[in-house]
Amino acid sequence: MSGETNPYESLREQIDDAATHLDVDDGVLERLKSPERMLETNLTFERDDGTLETVRAYRAQFNGDRGPYKGGIRYHPNVTRDEVKALSGWMVYKCAVVDVPYGGGKGGIAIDPADYSAAEIERVTRAFATELRPLIGPDRDVPAPDVNTGQREMNWIKDTYETLENTTAPGVITGKAPGSGGSAGRVEATGRSTMLAAREAFEWLDRDVDGATVAVQGYGNAGATAARLVDDLGMTVVAVSDSSGGIYDPDGLDTSAVTDHKAETGSVVGYPDTDTITNETLLTADVDLLVPAALENAIDADLAPEVDADVIVEAANGPLTPGADDVLTERDVVVVPDILANAGGVTVSYFEWVQNRQRFAWTEDRVVETLERIVTEAFDTLVETYDSASLPNLRTAAYIVGLTRVVEAYEAGGNWP
Ligand code: GLU
Repeated sequence: MSGETNPYESLREQIDDAATHLDVDDGVLERLKSPERMLETNLTFERDDGTLETVRAYRAQFNGDRGPYKGGIRYHPNVTRDEVKALSGWMVYKCAVVDVPYGGGKGGIAIDPADYSAAEIERVTRAFATELRPLIGPDRDVPAPDVNTGQREMNWIKDTYETLENTTAPGVITGKAPGSGGSAGRVEATGRSTMLAAREAFEWLDRDVDGATVAVQGYGNAGATAARLVDDLGMTVVAVSDSSGGIYDPDGLDTSAVTDHKAETGSVVGYPDTDTITNETLLTADVDLLVPAALENAIDADLAPEVDADVIVEAANGPLTPGADDVLTERDVVVVPDILANAGGVTVSYFEWVQNRQRFAWTEDRVVETLERIVTEAFDTLVETYDSASLPNLRTAAYIVGLTRVVEAYEAGGNWP
């Protein structure tokens, strides 16, 4: 694995690559490769022992041509300005690929939440919400969960915003708890679109899902849900991992029991009757389907020649470097890109925002059915684009679809003044 590839450079390369197949004005293209604005700020909060601590936090608003900026907030020690920029740009093209009426944004705090108590996390979250307040709003910028954040943090941000604005505005943030404006099916949504993308890809490739072997790197919300849902589809999950390492069982893992084991012990490692493996072994396992569901740059150009999966479905954002993409394209490994595969999260966030605005809750069945329709239609559009222009891979097709829609939105508005 390599941490050396700058994800913001990867994003720019991906956009440039798609633009070679389109007729986009150079000035417009430059606009669509850089964030419109960025907040970079100190958050100073009180530790439980009474001392003060200052950490760095970011929010990038990459592009708002198609609607309010939209994207998660992550808490991770590796959060940097360029990482947040890249992640916010990926959101722009992701929202365009599934055609939800949003631009793209992303935020993060450079902390490891495992080092802090719940009360400390609440204080730093409310400090961030206070900094974000002038920038966000249901029609302006709508944050959501990402790595190491969830309903708890979203509800604190909503509460801080509503208190300071003296209003109720559930649509200021998505991924909230049910009962305070959260949507049915939001927690599972990223894993669900990953499963749907895998199902559609296998059908397109005329491969049987029954008994197909799967390895999942990362067992957070997206990875654990994707594992459970591909298991339900009839696939056999033989390997999963988290930041402590991985486990392997050629007969297939009980994905729900592994989730319980991780909840109890903090890791998938040590789950009974399995071999312990490294993340690298997992990424190069001989499987039909590989699901990277952790962080950026999991597979780089050095590791890509060793990958032994036939299909990769990206549940994480940016898990393959552009160099890895080149190698895997050359080797005919089919990659369903992140901006389609993990778009279920933001799609159900969109449903949540619609429900908040209408003050009318949807049933879980409605959420699941509408998500399935949107993801399968988006997959079909990608494949049509891929076939019609003899493109190198599905990622290029996805960026062509996304870029075309963003350019259309920008050009419809024109340049003013
Ligand atoms: N953090 C998720 C993503 O990367 C969800 C974003 C959202 O729901 O706005 O797509």
